[in-house]
Amino acid sequence: MEQGGKPVLGWAAKDTSGHLSPYRFSRRVQRDGDVTIKVLFCGICHTDLHVIKNEWGNAMYPVVPGHEVVGVVTDVGTGVTKFKAGDTVGVGYFVDSCGACESCGTGHENYCPNLVLASNGVDSDGATTKGGFSDVVVVSKDYVVRVPESLPPDGAAPLLCAGVTVYSPMMQYGLNEPGKHLGVVGLGGLGHMAVKFGKAFGMTVTVISSSPGKREEALGRLGADSFLVSHDAAQMKAAAGSMDGIIDTVSAGHQIVPLLELLKPMGQMVVVGAPSKPLELPAYAIIAGGKRVAGNGVGSIADCQAMLDFAGEHGIAADVEVVGMDYVNTAIQRLERNDVRYRFVVDVAGSQLDATA
Ligand SMILES: [Zn+2]
Ligand SMILES: [Zn+2]
Repeated sequence: MEQGGKPVLGWAAKDTSGHLSPYRFSRRVQRDGDVTIKVLFCGICHTDLHVIKNEWGNAMYPVVPGHEVVGVVTDVGTGVTKFKAGDTVGVGYFVDSCGACESCGTGHENYCPNLVLASNGVDSDGATTKGGFSDVVVVSKDYVVRVPESLPPDGAAPLLCAGVTVYSPMMQYGLNEPGKHLGVVGLGGLGHMAVKFGKAFGMTVTVISSSPGKREEALGRLGADSFLVSHDAAQMKAAAGSMDGIIDTVSAGHQIVPLLELLKPMGQMVVVGAPSKPLELPAYAIIAGGKRVAGNGVGSIADCQAMLDFAGEHGIAADVEVVGMDYVNTAIQRLERNDVRYRFVVDVAGSQLDATA
């Protein structure tokens, strides 16, 4: 804890139970170039689930989760002209990078080997970073993005991770062109954003899901053009070779060969879900048709700002269930069961943060 730092009230997981409870700590004193932000809303991402229970073996307790932050600027450091008090802003998955490596130099700082994550990361001063499940965050201006006033701040929060994670590869691989056919595998926090962006780009969008019950919502409210049940071999066969690209958002173990069969020759699959077991990729599945498989991890700050501006113009926000911090442990249990449409967002500013659930 930094001496003389700013006292902050948040919620943290203190051990591998992952149970969150109130936690007082202090943030660094605002430096030149920093922005101080009062947190309004913070989304709950699958990554938070893995980290708070130390499922990836990297938890540095106490862990204050949260990397889908929308808030209001309350103060800025000397030399900050880009933001001022009262601005609505966002903070996503990372809050610093080295600025000197090839990734940073080419505008892909999300792949910097010294990326500083917003939560459970190691800051340049050695401190463990603490995320948006707290009343205040202090972040370098270069890692803060502007949230268009036209977007609802609660529905905008998941754009900071889920949104940019699908938008960035769609731009990178040309999966943003009208008339192209996009497959979206899995209809959760990431998948429903990919459907919304795909439709806004003017694409034909097909949702591929293991849950037939999601058909109505996919085709109805979300506006997808068609729906495939992934274990229905006849449906999958009928759609073979029809897609220009696929965004695979599924984080549970699943077969990718049947998905690759949906691609046109030289089609592009992008993996953004992270199953704990390795994906099975026989060479024949990509050699025939010259198909391509890429991974993607969030997006650059420039991509994130472009995504937010696009979302603002097209009225795209996440479908959210807003909860108080006293509900967060229940929300996490429900998220583990995929019992949410499509993202939980904590109303941080509206919660009594020092009251135990
Ligand atoms: Zn995330
Ligand atoms: Zn770097």
